[in-house]
Amino acid sequence: MTHRDKELIHSAKQHLGDELAALAKFLPILAEIESRKAYLEEGFPSLFKYLTLGLNLSESSAAKRIGAARLGRVIPKLFSMIESGVIHLSGAYVLSKYLESKTLPSILPLCVNKSRDEIDRLARNYFASSSELSVASTREVVRLRVRRVLPVEEQSDDGPMTNLKAAFPEPNQECDTILSTEVRLSITLSDTGFKRLERLKQLKPGHNFASIIEKALEMYQSKIDPVGRVERKEPSKFRGDQVQGEITCAQAQDQSTKPRATVTRHIPAAVRHQVYRRDQGQCTFMSVGGMRCCERGRLEFDHIQPFAMGGKHTVENLRLRCRGHNQLAARVAYGEDFMRRKCGGLTFPGK
Ligand SMILES: [Zn+2]
Repeated sequence: MTHRDKELIHSAKQHLGDELAALAKFLPILAEIESRKAYLEEGFPSLFKYLTLGLNLSESSAAKRIGAARLGRVIPKLFSMIESGVIHLSGAYVLSKYLESKTLPSILPLCVNKSRDEIDRLARNYFASSSELSVASTREVVRLRVRRVLPVEEQSDDGPMTNLKAAFPEPNQECDTILSTEVRLSITLSDTGFKRLERLKQLKPGHNFASIIEKALEMYQSKIDPVGRVERKEPSKFRGDQVQGEITCAQAQDQSTKPRATVTRHIPAAVRHQVYRRDQGQCTFMSVGGMRCCERGRLEFDHIQPFAMGGKHTVENLRLRCRGHNQLAARVAYGEDFMRRKCGGLTFPGK
């Protein structure tokens, strides 16, 4: 071994040590950020979104760090083990799937200096034998892997098809051609789900699985997506025509002026639809830096002037908020103590 070789080996060990030391400091900070929900004020609906969109980590890097941070909250000595290199991030992430197990701390010493696959097998056997399968693992009925095909200009010089074969080694007879705008999914369906898919294929001769799934997704989205429902109902509803069982905006506004005792928490459909349309089906929270929260799912209606303080169900007094930012607004309106009592174990530590 030359002097330069020795120098490189020494340098690699030193830098790896520095990296692990930084990671061991980063993870507890991450755990506290999640505990305090500090990402909300920055305009992110979740810690995962903060790491991927705010700090530009990849999805897998973010998931591993969040898993390790959560595991470290349960077993604090994990952080020092990561720093010393006896357990790695991937191994900690595997173990974080069993957070609900009471015997989780006892498996940690067994994972020292093991590979990810070894820890995975160890954990499966360990928790299966102790009948303590985690909720996360038992609920995992559908596994989904998504890989986006690179645009042609980003593919290798060997040509797009060579690149595609490398990205998707398993041939898929459902798609002969993949464009840069397409995504290939690898999914695991239940037996019932697959029989349903086959039955639909029988009923639609000439269609492949992909086109059937796309059609099913389109129908399902039109059924549950609030923005889509607004677009469909708008022609009759917002011309002033009353839809059976619902009320017009004018009536909704009128209801908001009724005596308090007769007003319920139910927000009239016409008002909800207008708010959804105005806010474009997205959380309206804006950070101090001007960043709007990106959350579009599981949205809630937030009263700008709180309902309990006389706020009305009007379009002007309502806005869309994700769960986290709705709670943040409530925390501002009602105070820390009230929210702590209201939310039970869920706490919002002071700033
Ligand atoms: Zn939000």
